[in-house]
Parts: sequence; C-alpha cells; structure tokens
Amino acid sequence: MDLFEYQARDLFEAHGVPVLPAEVVTDPADAAAAAERIGAASGGVVVVKAQVKTGGRGKAGGVKLAKSPQQATEAAQQILGMDIKGHTVGTVMIAQGAKIAEEYYFSLLLDRSNRTLLAMCSKEGGMDIEQLAEERPDALARVPVDPLVGIDQATAERIVAEAGFTADQDQIAEVLTTLWGVYRDEDATLVEVNPLVKTEDGQILALDAKVTLDDNARFRHPGHESLVDTAATDPLEARAQDKGLNYVKLDGNVGIIGNGAGLVMSTLDVVAYAGQDLGEVDGQLARPANFLDIGGGASAQVMADGLDVILTDEQVSSVFVNVFGGITACDAVANGIVQALQILGDEASKPLVVRLDGNNVEEGRRILQEAGHPLVTLVDTMDGAARKAAELAVNAPAS
Ligand code: GDP
Ligand code: MN
Repeated sequence: MDLFEYQARDLFEAHGVPVLPAEVVTDPADAAAAAERIGAASGGVVVVKAQVKTGGRGKAGGVKLAKSPQQATEAAQQILGMDIKGHTVGTVMIAQGAKIAEEYYFSLLLDRSNRTLLAMCSKEGGMDIEQLAEERPDALARVPVDPLVGIDQATAERIVAEAGFTADQDQIAEVLTTLWGVYRDEDATLVEVNPLVKTEDGQILALDAKVTLDDNARFRHPGHESLVDTAATDPLEARAQDKGLNYVKLDGNVGIIGNGAGLVMSTLDVVAYAGQDLGEVDGQLARPANFLDIGGGASAQVMADGLDVILTDEQVSSVFVNVFGGITACDAVANGIVQALQILGDEASKPLVVRLDGNNVEEGRRILQEAGHPLVTLVDTMDGAARKAAELAVNAPAS
C-alpha cells in the first residue's frame, strides 16, 4: 500500500525523523486558519501541497508557496480538484515553509534481484531521480543494506560517504538511521525522501515523504488499517477481502477461478490467448476479468464466495473455473461447485465453463454431469475450456 505524503510524514514524525509541522485540509475554507497556525513560526510562509499518490506534483503545479493565510486559501482553491496524472486532488497538506539551502535525495527499498535492501543517496535531490540515475549515475550512491543489520551507524556513515557529503555527515547519518527505524518498524518496502534538505540555518529535514507498506505484513499492524484509502479501493476487491479471498480485479469479461496461484496465472494467459485468437466479436475482445486463487480446500462456501464476487462484476459475461485436483480431489471440488450454485440460486446468472483434472477427475466430472446445471459446461482441456469461456464472453458462435 502506497501512503499519501501526509501519512508518511506522520510516520516519519512518530519515528523521530525531522519533519516540519503540517496539517491537512479538504476544504479551501479551512486553509487560512491552518496556514495561520502552521505559518506562525515561519514568518507566515507555508507550502500548500497536493496529496496524491503520484510523483511530480511540483512540476504539475501541485506544490505552491503561500506567504499569507489569504494566499494559502488561493493556493488550496487552485490545487484542490486539480488532476495530476489521472489523480484528482481531494486533500492538500499545509506545511510550514522551509528556507532551503540544499536539496538531497535518499531512498531505501527492497532490491529483489540482489536479495537485499538498497539505499540510494545523492547530494543532488529535488529533481527527477530517474533522470539523475540515467544521466549522471555517479552522482547517485547505491549501497546494499543487509536487512538483518539495517542502517546502523556504520552503514549510515558508509552511505553518507559514498554520496560524497563533505559537511554535516553526522547529522545526515543520524537522519538515515531514523529513516531505517520507519522502514523496519512499519514493515515498509520503500521509504523515499526527495528532497531531504538542509535549511539555511543548518537543519536537515525530510521535506517530502514517500512510503510503501508491505501488505503481507498488514496483520502485524492493526494501526495501518486506518491508512487505507477506502474511497479508492475497488469495491469488488474490498468485497473479496472481506471474504478472505485472494482476488485482483482486472479489466476483462471472463471471470477466472482456480486453485493455486500458478494455475490461475496460467489460466489468465490461456484466456488472453484464446481471446486474441478469437479476435473481436462485435467490438468485444475476450479477456480475463480477474485473478482469483481459492487455494487448496476449495470448499463449497469458498467456491460460493468466489463465484459471488465474480458474478457481481458487471463486466463479467462468462466464468472459467479451472481446478486441478491435488490434496483436494476433483469430486470434492465438483461437490463444492454444485453446492455453491445452490447457495447462489438465481444470483448465478452467467455461464460457467468448468475444467477439472487431477485426482478423482472421473468422479468429479460425473458429479457435475449428473447435477446437470443449465449454466455449467464441462470441458476436458484447459485450452478448450479457455476457448469456450472466451466464446461465451463475447457471444461468439461456438467453434
Ligand atoms: P513532488 O514534486 O511531488 O516530489 O513534491 P515535493 O514535496 O518534493 O515538492 C516539490 C518541490 O517543492 C521540492 O523539491 C522543493 O523544492 C519545493 N518545496 C517543498 N516544500 C518546500 C518548502 O517548505 N519551502 C520551499 N522553499 N520549497 C519547498
Ligand atoms: Mn518530492
């Protein structure tokens, strides 16, 4: 989960990373009062910043300096409702103005290819870091960080040295160790500060804050629940999450249910290929509508929950249930499907293509055949079933 800047800033503050006072407002009418409070210690100067989960807000006009409460209101009026790279601004942060002497860059992230964490640091922050990495790679220090050690004093000193700092080394190193605290204690996969600044009076401050939290660690952080942007969560994904399903909404018309992440991934591929192969029918192309792994077990209730979520998706026109019987044999899965259709009753309204293989496949197919549900078509092969589901999704004549 990516956080908004203000949420990341709050985490920074909680872990002792130096940040400036700030408040968020969603109504321009509240901006002046916030600016009055926040700007009291900075000669009335505040910065009004768009809160959207994308970078480059500065360039897009989403970061404005205001020298009075009146100007803060005007800036908030301009920024709220603005579209920045497809994100509509619904919240602005009013932050105390800083007198910037120098801008630096720091990030810590998961480096999967190297199986370590990676710290990146530069004396030249503020600008587009991808551009810096491309044009002047020497200006960006890249220091692998052992996740079991983290950024301890020695590692922080090494990062600071490799970035070429020749002043304020101790102060910067200390900020890096506090940023490590955020990364470790919050189970982040990314902590980025661009810019980390030195002010005219010599303070080192995080002036921007970008944090991505590891969703797989969510269970360890009940407090992170409140950081979820529920307004932006896909309603189907929210429904699936409530039911404990491993579901990702995609943009197509063939609903997918399978057991095992690998099988589901391959199912998405074969459906996409079948759709391509079939081509557009009346301007419609068959494509997978979702990822849904119901895992082992595949009880009737889980099957019913999965079908319920998929059938709620208005884009879905057909469903492909692709199950390989392993520990849970095909007859159990077939019974699960039959019972799930009973549970759903009239709500099961779209054609289902079922492909079963693996343990007890004969028995499983027999159960489905005997049940004879009018919406269910049994197909023996994965490719054949994908083809059938694709045809049904676009109403193509059967091949
Ligand atoms: P981004 O463009 O989305 O990364 O947004 P940032 O938070 O990084 O802000 C963009 C730029 O605005 C920064 O690089 C700074 O140069 C400038 N900026 C942000 N806060 C302040 C501030 O308090 N005072 C001044 N003078 N400039 C600021
Ligand atoms: Mn930035």
